[in-house]
Amino acid sequence: MAELLRVENLKKYFKNPAGMLHAVDGVSFSINAGDTLGVVGESGCGKSTLGRVVIKLLEPTSGTIIFKGKDVTSVTKKEKKELRKKMQIIFQDPFSSLNPRLCVFDLIADPLKTYRLLGRAERQKKVFELMDMVGLARRFAYSYPHELDGGRRQRIGIARALSLDPEFIVCDEPVSALDVSIQAQILNVLQDLQQEKHLTYIFVTHDLSVVKHISTDVLVMYAGVMVEKAKTKELFATPLHPYTKALLSAIPVPDIDYKRQKVKLKGEISSPIEPKDECRFVNRCLYATEACRKKAPGYEEVLPDHFVACHNVREINNLMAEEADHLRG
Ligand code: SF4
Repeated sequence: MAELLRVENLKKYFKNPAGMLHAVDGVSFSINAGDTLGVVGESGCGKSTLGRVVIKLLEPTSGTIIFKGKDVTSVTKKEKKELRKKMQIIFQDPFSSLNPRLCVFDLIADPLKTYRLLGRAERQKKVFELMDMVGLARRFAYSYPHELDGGRRQRIGIARALSLDPEFIVCDEPVSALDVSIQAQILNVLQDLQQEKHLTYIFVTHDLSVVKHISTDVLVMYAGVMVEKAKTKELFATPLHPYTKALLSAIPVPDIDYKRQKVKLKGEISSPIEPKDECRFVNRCLYATEACRKKAPGYEEVLPDHFVACHNVREINNLMAEEADHLRG
């Protein structure tokens, strides 16, 4: 499969009264066309900022973004506008991202008008087609966002994102503000559209069960850095970083006979403001050694296509395998 997007050593820092806040600090990955990269981590780990920098809603501090073989890291205003047609975003909270004064029809037609893409009649046809595509009944065309439930509002957000026929979409926690019953419907819409239109997604979420369901690959972030990246199946079967292990151990298992080693995270999260050259997980890691405070770990391909940033990854996993054997009895 052809590579659609490559990101190399991407950084985004923000000025803060206490110093530079390293929101995204040296993240690298690539995504093939038609795939979904799930980006997971706790709130404030930089995953949403990463999504926004990749599609240039925010300018990167440094690093490289290659989209369809072209370096789009620094583009002119005009080029950025063109790029926006191909790279779109679906926001977490459709209510705050939609203009409350516009009805559904106008909200979906808005990007088409901005880009002056179609005549009036064709635009109308396209808006209704988009409504059909995302499962939004045409009778809601002249309703306003406040008259609709969260699921229908998110369908408007998806229709807007699709209106310019993008190839790549950042889905930024698109289901976390929705009821559980509606979450599955929206995930199905996103998956069906991906198949139909060969879309490529970055799916930002804190919910690992969603990521397991929808992603081809998973990137785990912690305090602005990438700590682990692997194919979804591989990551869920063989998590190697202590932080990923802790995240996965918190997912409920529907089998009462299954004994899972629960990992509880204690300690302070390292500050992302002017961080020291040390592992950012060091204050919460059960396996921290002196080396972890002396230098931040680099990314290493520990298994084929499975990258981890941890000085002690091999020792930890040998130890945990012994503990699991012991638990099994
Ligand atoms: Fe833990 Fe050290 Fe690995 Fe960081 S580098 S995750 S502190 S063992």
